[in-house]
Amino acid sequence: MLTYSHQNIDQSDIEVILKALKDEILTGGKKVEEFEKSLCEYVGVKYACVLNSATSALHLAYKILNLKDKIVLSTPLTFAATSNTALMAGAKVEFIDIKSDGNIDENKLEARLKKDSKNIGAICVVDFGGNSVEMDEILYLSKKYNIPLIDDASHALGANYKDKKVGSMADLNVFSFHPVKPITTFEGGALLSNNEDFIKKAKLLRSHGIEKKRLWDSDMYELGYNYRLSDVACALGINQLKKLDINLEKRERIARFYDEEFKNNPYFSTIKIKDYKKSSRHLYPILLFPEFHCKKEEIFKALIDKKIGVQVHYKPTYEFSFYKNLMGNIRLENADHFYRAELSIPCHQEMSLEDAKFVKENLFEILEQVKKAYCE
Ligand SMILES: *Cc1c(COP(=O)(O)O)cnc(C)c1O
Repeated sequence: MLTYSHQNIDQSDIEVILKALKDEILTGGKKVEEFEKSLCEYVGVKYACVLNSATSALHLAYKILNLKDKIVLSTPLTFAATSNTALMAGAKVEFIDIKSDGNIDENKLEARLKKDSKNIGAICVVDFGGNSVEMDEILYLSKKYNIPLIDDASHALGANYKDKKVGSMADLNVFSFHPVKPITTFEGGALLSNNEDFIKKAKLLRSHGIEKKRLWDSDMYELGYNYRLSDVACALGINQLKKLDINLEKRERIARFYDEEFKNNPYFSTIKIKDYKKSSRHLYPILLFPEFHCKKEEIFKALIDKKIGVQVHYKPTYEFSFYKNLMGNIRLENADHFYRAELSIPCHQEMSLEDAKFVKENLFEILEQVKKAYCE
């Protein structure tokens, strides 16, 4: 199966893992700081705290901002963890609609803040598919209304916005190292910030809120967690980061091929990456034209039958039963439409241009068939 995304594990990864496994210290050792340092250097941020998932990183980001009973403005077009963790930190979530590129609509965000900015504790954006949000506009709003900004850049390690790395601009920036994401540490994530206090707090909460004092003595200052990432995972992360730019180039080559082949096709549109951005191409979303929406199940199944592992990103968070029970029925027009239209097709460094051609040909063939049946 050609999956929509895939990890890159080569001999060098295997060697660093074997070496780390033979070390005396498997967790809580030097590799943790070393990985944090290389992330800081790569992204261009002063401080980092690596964690056992991006979900943990998001949870700590919200915790650090003390959001109990405050409102978090966020996007519904993301993985559930983006807002779940705000709820876990005692905040309330309010969804802002997206634009046609899947990112939060900065104009709708502004309208919401203009209406009433009281009790809003944070804004959390997501760089959908690895394509940066409109950071200048969003940072302007964050400063104007004095509301901290979290960037859930889980998709976007290595992406750029106007020559800055995505994940370097918000007050708190989150990355995921789940195998489908740009680099992997099996499970894993990180919180990055230029605010030293934020990252100090994250490191305290990462390990039970406990600090060692002397000999056997320690003190506990906060109700913390065990959100640590092991040294073995960090050793893998350090090696993965070295290969990231090469892998991003490979993804870009596949994505460019699709961009070219899909121009003006009669079935779907694609998302154009603006010239002042570089996407990590974590996803390659296609947006089916409305006449295909009712046939999406059929299209999805036909692609899977051809061993083309498509996926849909995302069911809007407010569509989950849990959120319906919490918030009632919500309809956001663009997010609903995007969900009906979207399919993520295979785009990653493990596939060849031949594979991409195979995807294109089968996709067009299936859509042509579906179209005929639909018209009859
Ligand atoms: C994958 C993902 C997460 C969760 O990442 P984990 O590392 O699996 O916890 C959070 N937000 C977004 C946008 C994601 O894509």
